[in-house]
Amino acid sequence: MLYSWLACFEYPVSGLDTPQYNLTTIDKNGNATTVPTSTGATNGPSYYGCGPSFTSPPVQPVLQRADGSYIGTASTSEYVQGPMTAFTASGQQLWSQPNYTPQIATAGGGVIAASTSGSGQTVTFDQNGNQTGQMVNMTTRSWRGLAYQIGSVNQVVPAPTLLANSFWAVQNANQSTNYVAAPQTEYPQLVSCYAADNPPGATLPPCPGPRQTIWNAYKALAIANPNDGSPAVLVTNGSFIQEKVFAQLANGNANITESAFLDYLKKGFSPYDGTTSTAPKAILTAHPFWNRFLGNDAVSTNFLTADGKPDPSAFAATEPGVTPLTVFFNPYNFNKDTGGQINVPINKGANINNMAMLFHEGLHGFLNMDDPGLQTAFKCETVDQFNSLNLTDYLKQFLIVPPPQSITPCK
Ligand SMILES: [Zn+2]
Repeated sequence: MLYSWLACFEYPVSGLDTPQYNLTTIDKNGNATTVPTSTGATNGPSYYGCGPSFTSPPVQPVLQRADGSYIGTASTSEYVQGPMTAFTASGQQLWSQPNYTPQIATAGGGVIAASTSGSGQTVTFDQNGNQTGQMVNMTTRSWRGLAYQIGSVNQVVPAPTLLANSFWAVQNANQSTNYVAAPQTEYPQLVSCYAADNPPGATLPPCPGPRQTIWNAYKALAIANPNDGSPAVLVTNGSFIQEKVFAQLANGNANITESAFLDYLKKGFSPYDGTTSTAPKAILTAHPFWNRFLGNDAVSTNFLTADGKPDPSAFAATEPGVTPLTVFFNPYNFNKDTGGQINVPINKGANINNMAMLFHEGLHGFLNMDDPGLQTAFKCETVDQFNSLNLTDYLKQFLIVPPPQSITPCK
């Protein structure tokens, strides 16, 4: 199975958004291989996000050929059908033909394709993308019925699923043919205060929006304070945090240091809206023991009360051990302390309440440890899989600049 997807990386200092196109192949044993590709990519970095006006969507694999390569379409913008493109699983483009959409893979690596120029023609191409014939009076409907019977077709692969960017879901919603098995909103982006970042029709919040708020907290914690350029708190308090936090966590492991944690955070940040995510909750635990209780529930059930409202006691949940740091948030709790109060200057999101939450979540991403593991390491009075706000409160102390003289034990 092949997934084509787009990740959007915001360069932490400049705020420049860079689209990264990827192809992920999952073999029959479930092993995933991901390679970056430039196939279908037509736009470079942008200050305005990887939204549809600024970034072309990832190449769409439609058919797999007998040799394992693919034929799909590479759109140049959200609403424009791109050229039919043959490419390998490693992302290398083999050939490209404008104005056709692939229908059926044929023996010898050829393809039958429908014209998208309005002529209604159906055309055959050989393995190198050369036109070899023309067929008439064949509707898409009949082709679909034949899709498993002609030539050496060995597989019709799913259309791409959105793994990182919500605008793709809008495009697929307009397609009549949709083989996507996975939901389209597993990784919903936080709402931005810039229209170009959001799906069409989104209501714009004032700046900073939720997306800007948490990015500013991330920058102040790990990169530099976006408000005044002062050094990141993990730099300012680096030796203090090494001594008081990471020395306790390392347990003899020389790879677990404050500077290694900072390096991990600098590799990137993927924040999503947990209140709307349909991703399976099982992605949030590194421990199979807990998996069995999670069933097929969506991540959003972690963030919503029984009546479907954002849960005031739910702040964030992280995919453990994943690079870059990948966190689902309750944006309604941004800027608040664990008691639900905004008790500090908001500073466009670069405040200690958000940073403490990120510090906590960052440890899950960096260490692949769950809450009870961290609570035990920090000798917290309460060890609880379902309430870990004591970790956020404990960690907040280490982010005060300059560092405090004494540390309150974890409650
Ligand atoms: Zn936690």
